[in-house]
Amino acid sequence: MRKPIGVLALQGDVREHRATFERLGVETIEVKHASQLNEIRGLVLPGGESTVIEKLSKIYGLFEPIREAIANGLPAFGTCAGLIMLANKIEDAIAGQEGFGGLDAVVRRNAFGHQVDSFEADLAFSGIEGSVHAAFIRAPLIESVGVGVEVVSSLPGGGIVGVRQGNLLGISFHPEVTGEDRIHALFDDMCA
Ligand code: GLN
Repeated sequence: MRKPIGVLALQGDVREHRATFERLGVETIEVKHASQLNEIRGLVLPGGESTVIEKLSKIYGLFEPIREAIANGLPAFGTCAGLIMLANKIEDAIAGQEGFGGLDAVVRRNAFGHQVDSFEADLAFSGIEGSVHAAFIRAPLIESVGVGVEVVSSLPGGGIVGVRQGNLLGISFHPEVTGEDRIHALFDDMCA
């Protein structure tokens, strides 16, 4: 039997991710314990607040197990705060902030400032036909990527907002709040 996809359920928009997979007919579970990492074929790191996700994952004993699972090849999909959690280097982090890492990229938190906290944009996304309607909510920006990282989406004016590296997919925006299901379908394929 096929394992479900896990959604890290400590903080953030867990429900929206699960609803997106449900529309695709993909089974999901909420991950709150390290033992569940063996029961899933991929892990979604939702948007929310990266500093809170870090703290809660440490309190719940999930931080090191997730770090290891990702390093050992568990497919992971980070959106917004989840992308920050995947980045090997975080700019504008709070003091001592760390993520799970694995993604050879530099990601800047809150890169679009405070006045224009949120906006929507239509983006090209490699592997998806037409455009992707994306919501950016106090979003991070991918400032640079290593050689093994494929840029899959950029803003119309430039600025990297989607990357893929082996088992990892990271995006700055929230497709799960705009009814855009195709990136989740793509991740489901990565977890096959
Ligand atoms: N600004 C948040 C952070 O630093 C991310 C925002 C989001 O996930 N929508 O984690």
